[in-house]
Amino acid sequence: MTFDELGLHPDLLRAIVDTGYTEPTPIQAQAIPVVLAGRDVMAGAQTGTGKTASFTLPMLHKLAAHQNTSTSPARHPVRGLILAPTRELAAQVEASVKTYSKHLSLRSTSVYGGVNIDPQIAELRKGVEILVATPGRLLDHLHQKSVNLSQVEFLVLDEADRMLDMGFMPDIRRIFSFLPPRRQNLLFSATFSEDIKRLSSEFMRDPQLIEVARRNATSDNILQVAYPVGADHKRRLLAQIIKNENLHQVLVFTNTKTGANRLAHQLVHENINAVAIHSDKTQQARTQALAEFKEGKIQALIGTDVAARGLDIDDLPCVVNFDLPHNAEDYVHRIGRTGRAGATGKAISLVAPEEKRYLGDIEKLIKRSIPMEALPGYSADRYESAQSQERPVSRGRDRERAPHKREPEIAAPVPERAPEKAQQKRPESPALDEAPVSRHHGRKKEVAALLLPRRSVTTTE
Ligand code: AMP
Repeated sequence: MTFDELGLHPDLLRAIVDTGYTEPTPIQAQAIPVVLAGRDVMAGAQTGTGKTASFTLPMLHKLAAHQNTSTSPARHPVRGLILAPTRELAAQVEASVKTYSKHLSLRSTSVYGGVNIDPQIAELRKGVEILVATPGRLLDHLHQKSVNLSQVEFLVLDEADRMLDMGFMPDIRRIFSFLPPRRQNLLFSATFSEDIKRLSSEFMRDPQLIEVARRNATSDNILQVAYPVGADHKRRLLAQIIKNENLHQVLVFTNTKTGANRLAHQLVHENINAVAIHSDKTQQARTQALAEFKEGKIQALIGTDVAARGLDIDDLPCVVNFDLPHNAEDYVHRIGRTGRAGATGKAISLVAPEEKRYLGDIEKLIKRSIPMEALPGYSADRYESAQSQERPVSRGRDRERAPHKREPEIAAPVPERAPEKAQQKRPESPALDEAPVSRHHGRKKEVAALLLPRRSVTTTE
């Protein structure tokens, strides 16, 4: 199939040619005709599948009928509203909207917390047809009456599962009350849960279900491997892996903000250019770190789930789970940063004894086993004996979010409003960081070659 065959507006086809895409991805091939036909869509698509274009392109196609060059704000009401869980994702989606609409006379902008609201108000007052927003900041605008949503024709919930997990449900419901009843609704989610199905039944009309990859599946393009290691040796091991495997661009996930800071500090000490990115950093610092990471100026970006959510980095070769996520679905999201749009990638997990149960949960969810490869110097014996001695990796005080109810983004200098539910969740329950589990997990094999330069890891699959 080609983009021409989808019957998209010629100005969109020109923009697609400019991007260099040659053919629609599976989610695009399936979703675009359904959206063009006017139906609600509930789509399950992995990150990196091209899902943004699958809702942006048909929406722009339909909104092209409203193009005009009038300077009157009244001629540019919000007609397409895209809700996204984090600022980074909102900014990225808006960038995609701008890319695809560059030959059309349609205006777009994004609004999210953590930055001054005044320039956003000024932009909104001029009028925009497509608005990308995080829920908290959008509600601020609605309450200040800087935006009117009464003419919205398209509503997109992007990464809906994450929005629910972050406790945005009350905010989303409030936003719905500002929308006209007749509109087209699109819901995109990497994973489906009962909560997502309940939400969709509340606001969608007979949605067409589209699923391009197995639910909660990880991409076959990603080589997954786990290294057993005591919690106290993780930082040293990671520095060795980065150096010995010559990883020039690696995204590392920690479960806590202080863990991210500490790790970045340690890597810098080891002459690895590393920067932490999390919600205690200002938006400006986060934007700059992300830009420099994309440009290859920063070798290791250390992030928490909330901060690193939705990052789209072309050809990101490697993701490391420095801490295993306590919510197995986060694993799918994390490693989905690599191996995107057909590229190959590698996902390394450093597994402390007390984290084995999380690895088990992940394997159950993704329905595949992740080969455990014991490393010289970090041998199985040491690993096992360490179980009784080592402290848990994270102690919960500064975890960025709970396993099932994540905190929303809150960052200086202007905090984005926290949804009530998530606020109540803080501080974290110490029970999350209980004692290690002694259950044996998976197969282990010695891999002597890790500490040699540029070795490739073999999987046992
Ligand atoms: P997404 O899943 O929307 O985050 O997209 C993941 C990546 O795929 C982005 O870098 C897009 O630019 C890229 N992409 C989207 N559609 C296509 C396509 N049809 N062909 C090649 N790359 C694409």
